[in-house]
Amino acid sequence: MTTSTPTIFYAANVFTSQTRTSQKNVQQTIKNAAIVVENGMITWLGIESDLPEQMKNECKTENEYRFTTGWLTTGLIDCHTHLIYGGNRSGEFKQRLEGVAYKEIARQGGGILSTVKATRQETEDELFDSALKRLHQLRSEGVTCLEIKSGYGLELDAEIKMLKVARKLAVYTGLDIKTTCLAAHAVPEEYKDRADDYIDYVCDQILPEASQQNLVDAVDGFCENIGFNTKQISRVFDKAMELGLPVKLHAEQLSNQHGASLAAKYSALSVDHLEYLDEDGVSALKVSGTVAVLLPGAFYTLRETQKPPIEQLRKYQVPIAIATDSNPGSSPCNSLLLMLNMACTLFQLTVDEALMAVTTNAAKALGLEATHGQIQVGMNADFVHWDVKEVDELCYYFGTNPCTKIFKNGEPLKE
Ligand SMILES: [Zn+2]
Repeated sequence: MTTSTPTIFYAANVFTSQTRTSQKNVQQTIKNAAIVVENGMITWLGIESDLPEQMKNECKTENEYRFTTGWLTTGLIDCHTHLIYGGNRSGEFKQRLEGVAYKEIARQGGGILSTVKATRQETEDELFDSALKRLHQLRSEGVTCLEIKSGYGLELDAEIKMLKVARKLAVYTGLDIKTTCLAAHAVPEEYKDRADDYIDYVCDQILPEASQQNLVDAVDGFCENIGFNTKQISRVFDKAMELGLPVKLHAEQLSNQHGASLAAKYSALSVDHLEYLDEDGVSALKVSGTVAVLLPGAFYTLRETQKPPIEQLRKYQVPIAIATDSNPGSSPCNSLLLMLNMACTLFQLTVDEALMAVTTNAAKALGLEATHGQIQVGMNADFVHWDVKEVDELCYYFGTNPCTKIFKNGEPLKE
């Protein structure tokens, strides 16, 4: 390992996103803070006046950043996106406004399948370019780590193409990107009424090949009456286990299919959406340590009225994350800050819960809790500076972006 001279960040206010536990020394906010970074990692954190002289002296002035106002947080994490897709679905947006239901659009071969068609047609470069624009929007609001799912290919080559684009985006932008294979997103046209055969194809060909090419970090599915049933999903999860890949699940979005309980049995990293999750499901998540990912953008777009069971999630102390669910159908949104506000306004999360939901808990939803999502010694030095008087303002405002500076592994992010 190469050693470099330390960098020191001085900040008037730091929100650490550290999890409150019975352990001592958990500080969620630090005033007049100093953070020492070496080799991209936080090696010292505390009040500036406690910073050892020797550390101060080792640091060259050009390796010093001083923020006398505003707040420093860890880089935000968007733990559920479908950022890569062909075309868009503004036409269906129009249809829905004219009263056509999402389920009906899906049955007509619209919805996911129209995006599948467009995604199959586009080249890797075309998909890369459009996804990069969306990624830049996320990044401009302090997102330094995200997840990207496949699931609009639904055939071997197109799923591999999407996953390759996700890997290329990580190299190109320098952000941390976790890829998820969501081949079990919908039944493609050529397998119409043969969902079980399609699941065979996913398990026998798509997942093994994606894994073989090292393109996939997790496996996901859509468990719903317009998606796949729990029996089909469990076959996908069995294959994921065989390949040594963790799982996640789109569950209980439009109805209660008991997908969350199934996912919990496989120690899923996360279950996502959850409007129709019941108490049995919540208690299963508690046992498995699975993160509940809420997606207020989809709730809003579909004009859903059933809210996720926030009180029960609190009661069972299930970690809650929030994500954009950026996708062309139910959440055409590339703003995690907007999701912060929506989670507070629509789901009544507290400001503290919402901030943890895009940092610590979002990291856990990606299996990155050891390195990401908190300002703490031993963690990655991913920081965002915000021009706000109180950190609460990140949830309070919507449609504004107070992000002034982003650091990835202690280095300023290139524009
Ligand atoms: Zn999704």
